[in-house]
Amino acid sequence: MQISKLFDGDKTVLSYEIFPPKRNDSIDKIYDTIEKLSDLNPDFISVTYGACGNIADSKTADIAQLIKDKYNIESVAHLTCINTGKEELDYILNDLESKGIENILALRGDINPDIKPKKEFKYASELATYIIKRGGFYVSGACYPEVHVEAEDSIADIKNLKKKVDCGVSHLISQLFFDNEVFYAFKDRARAADINVPIEAGIMPVTNKKQIERMVTLCGASLPAKFVKVLQKYEDKPEALVDAGIAYAVNQIVDLVANGVDGIHLYTMNNPYVARKITESVKNIL
Ligand code: FAD
Repeated sequence: MQISKLFDGDKTVLSYEIFPPKRNDSIDKIYDTIEKLSDLNPDFISVTYGACGNIADSKTADIAQLIKDKYNIESVAHLTCINTGKEELDYILNDLESKGIENILALRGDINPDIKPKKEFKYASELATYIIKRGGFYVSGACYPEVHVEAEDSIADIKNLKKKVDCGVSHLISQLFFDNEVFYAFKDRARAADINVPIEAGIMPVTNKKQIERMVTLCGASLPAKFVKVLQKYEDKPEALVDAGIAYAVNQIVDLVANGVDGIHLYTMNNPYVARKITESVKNIL
């Protein structure tokens, strides 16, 4: 099923993101995670690709297939292009198709200073165009409420996003953010630029201080004062920090839903406990 069709009704879409196990980690743990997440009935689950650098032995396709076949939940396979040549890409697309995957989140991927990018695909829009021309998949894309770190400014970033949507990307998922006002301003910019596809808000519950510092350095999310206060108060109390992080995420979601957000994309960090707590708190308001 095309992901963008999930947004046709009145309900706010709820999706989860998970990542495949790292190279030496057991696959069993992810099975357990999916089993627990599937109980919560998300509208779809997306599976990251090569985010830990192991593109060659990525389990993304297998996991996305399992989500669909065993749990009857729609899945989205992430796919990056900056270090992928056409031949490899064709192989991956054939593999995804043979596994029944219909939805791809087309991404450029982060530039790794130690790896020389391949020349074929410079931007996610080029990957999206290639996939759409091939046929067989619906394509989603990423967007950045706080502006992508490499973009000249917010106007250039929105113009580039518009190009991506004009290529046929039919649904967007945002980078995580902690200040809803930033998301609302971004959404206004996007709509003013005639970007009219559904935009899901990326929410990442804080479960430990290290994780948040790493994510913020990587993706450039700013931390509003009220969020920093939560971190400072509970940084040395791990259990309290989990509760506070869940409460913060729930507050963000309530406000987003009240303001008519199209969907919530929860970065679960493969933590079904946190996903459950949040989902149970918001299920009646979606
Ligand atoms: P693009 O859309 O190509 O944009 C990259 C930069 O180029 C932006 O600054 C943009 O403004 C600019 N740009 C775009 N088009 C043009 C153009 N035509 N001319 C000039 N400039 C242009 N990474 C992974 O490795 N694996 C994952 O699974 C993964 N999942 C993600 C999921 C989500 C929801 C998000 C938000 C990010 C994810 N990422 C993942 C990270 C992503 O790969 C990086 O943020 C990457 O730096 C940009 O990818 P993109 O697809 O947004 O790139």
